[in-house]
This record gives sequence, structure tokens and C-alpha cells, in this order.
Amino acid sequence: MQRHNKSPKIHLNENLRGLSTSATIAIQQLSKTLTEQGREIYRLGLGQSPFPVPDPVIEALKKNAHQKDYLAVKGLEELRHSLIGHHRRIFGIESGMEDIIVGPGSKELMFILQLVYDGEILIPTPSWVSYYPQARIIGRHVNAIMTTRENSWKITAGQIDAICRLDPGRSRLLILNYPSNPTGQTYSAGELKELAEVLAKYQVLVLSDEIYAKLTFSDKHTSIVNFYPEGTIFSGGLSKWCGAGGWRLGLFVIPENLRWLTDAMATVASETFTSTSAPIQYAAVTAFQQNPDIDIYVEKCRKILTALSDSIIAKFQKTKVDVLAPQGGFYIFPDFDQYRQLFQKKGILTSTDLCDQLLQDTGVAILPGVDFGRPKDELTVRIAYVDFDGTAALKNFPDHAALNDDYLQKYCGRTLRAVDIIVDWLSE
Ligand code: GLU
Repeated sequence: MQRHNKSPKIHLNENLRGLSTSATIAIQQLSKTLTEQGREIYRLGLGQSPFPVPDPVIEALKKNAHQKDYLAVKGLEELRHSLIGHHRRIFGIESGMEDIIVGPGSKELMFILQLVYDGEILIPTPSWVSYYPQARIIGRHVNAIMTTRENSWKITAGQIDAICRLDPGRSRLLILNYPSNPTGQTYSAGELKELAEVLAKYQVLVLSDEIYAKLTFSDKHTSIVNFYPEGTIFSGGLSKWCGAGGWRLGLFVIPENLRWLTDAMATVASETFTSTSAPIQYAAVTAFQQNPDIDIYVEKCRKILTALSDSIIAKFQKTKVDVLAPQGGFYIFPDFDQYRQLFQKKGILTSTDLCDQLLQDTGVAILPGVDFGRPKDELTVRIAYVDFDGTAALKNFPDHAALNDDYLQKYCGRTLRAVDIIVDWLSE
């Protein structure tokens, strides 16, 4: 092979300057590397479901391994049909076949949406690590809406009104995620109604990221679609409630009045990923059909996450860490501000310093608040309480008893140990 010593004359797209691998993916890679080097690492970085894919869905995938054809761009008809029923049953959402688009993960669909839609993007902070970089890659203007701990890290109708009032004619997209990654907080029906009123008043489009909806601990999740059907895109998928992050299947339900937008997204899909993996789509038909076994699976996952989060919160309550009890999903978003002076002596000034030092000293991997859009020097972090064997936890789920400490120690022990390690680290 003959090599010339000069590289091709190409330049990086300006929009990518300063961006690197997504924080959630990077922490998982780092955790893996450190584990391979022989360190004991507690993986509370990436937000991946600890639970296995339910058996009927695995069986459906096995049966459909032979499916090899490209499928319809918007998704397999049978799957969209099963989704219509699922969304009506679970969320009270009415939709038709042409309102749905299935993609290789909702992340990809969010990127395409931001590409085809021209306007300002409103992103509450803290929020998931990828919304902002996606908008930046595409070159959209982002308006970050700061939330406060006092308001449970949630935006208010007043904040939306204040932004829109200044320039009511501008086209806007709000990304709303509940139960929230990273805070675990969710919006009540009343709060969503208030938001819906002001969003409708200014005709703001909403991307309602409800990927954790089925993991709402109270099982009383309400979708904003119910209050603002004409302006809301519902986003969901298999990753979180069905333990199938790596299967990459996400979906949008888009209102009929925005058909041009759905079709524009389908155009981009047809020119990029073509269609989502065929065997996965066939298996997903089963995942979204009514099935008591799957309902029981979800209920058990919810109960385990609820009991585990209670136990974690109780541990932090014995410290000066400020943290809200989560209402769904598998994240908490504690604030270590009370330790600021102590940390300063160790050279910890930012949330990134905090996470780096914690990982170095103890092997506990978590993500800094700055990755979720918070100010650098705010000492908030995200803990994904998922480092345990979800298969064993489900197999040994007690049929008639409560999930007591013994159960949690036995089956969610690694996560509890990691929290103990953080607590001990603070007291040193
Ligand atoms: N949503 C998960 C997280 O926040 C992981 C998946 C991803 O970021 O792509 O950790």
C-alpha cells in the first residue's frame, strides 16, 4: 500500500466544534475500560434499564429472525396498528396509521424532527444530555429555560409566557420530558393543563418525551397530549420500560393536523435509515399488544425501582445532600452544595471535578449536572440507580410480601453499596 503524506483537504462542520461523544455513552465506555483494567466500577452513569426484555417479546424476536425485507418507512403496519391500541389504552391518545413514525430509537427521530422543523428550540434545564447537542449540530437556536430545585426542577406556564410574550410570532418547539431524565420528577395533570393553555395560546409545538411514562411509580402518568392534542408530538419507545435500549426502537405519534411534518420526517427517514430493523419491529408488535404477563412484568419493575429509590433517598437523608425523591424512571439529581467548602479544599469546584474525583477515589461512576445544562459550578449530579441484576431481581420477586431490606440488599446490592460508598466518601 502506497501512502501519500498529506490528508484530504476537508474541514469539520462548524456546528460540531467543541462537541464530543455524548456524555451518557462516554461514561459507559470509560466504566468499561476501567473495569477491564481491573478496577471495581459501579456503573451509575449510563441510564440503561437493568431488567431483561420480557419473555413473550424475546420469543417474538426469535420467531421473526428470518424477517429480512426493508419495511415501510413509517414502520411495519402491524406494529403501527398495535401502537394505536396501546396508546389509546395506556395514555388515552387517539391516532391513525399515518400519524405514527417508528425509528431506530426515539433519539434519531428527535434529531430528524429538529432538522425538518425550522424554529427556536426551548429546552428546560436540567434535561437529557442529547437534546442540546442535537440542536447545535443542526444549527438551531436554543433557548434554555432554567428551572429550580424549589420548583422541583420543573418549568412553569409563567416561564413559557414570559419567553413567548416578547416575540409571539416566532415559531417554537418545546422539549418536555416527564418523568424526567435526570431528575425523576414528573408533571401532574393540573400542571400539564396549565402549560398546555399557554403553549396553545402561542401555538408552540411540544415534543413530549414520555419514554419513562410506564415507569411512573404511582402508575398515574398523564400525557400532555390530552390537553394539547393539536400541538403535541408524543415520543416513546421500547428502551426504558421494556429493557431493550440496545434494540433501538422508538416512535412518534404526531397529530393529524401536522401531517406535513410527519411526511417531511418520513422523507428524511427514507433518505437516511430507510426503515427500522425488521425483526425488531415484528417483536415490538408483541411488546405493545395487550398482554397480562407484560403488564405484570412492568408492575414488578416499577415496584423494584420504587423500593430501591426509597432506600437510596433514606441513605442521602442522613447526609447534607439535598435530593428530591423520584416519581418515576431510574434517576435522581442530588445537589452537594452543602459540601462546597469541604470540596474546595480538595480542589473540587465544579460538578465535573466532583464526578471525576468520586470516580477516581471510589470507582462510582455518575454524571455531572453540567452535562444536563446546569451551571458548571453548581454541585448537582445525576445518579442512574441501575447497577444491579434485574433478571435475578424479577425472578426472586416475592409474590405476597413487600420488598424489604433483605430483598433489596440481595438483588439490588451493588447500587445500594455504591450509594453507601458515596455517603462514606462525603464523611471522610
Ligand atoms: N437515555 C439514557 C441516558 O440518559 C441513555 C441513552 C442515550 O443517552 O442515548 O443515560
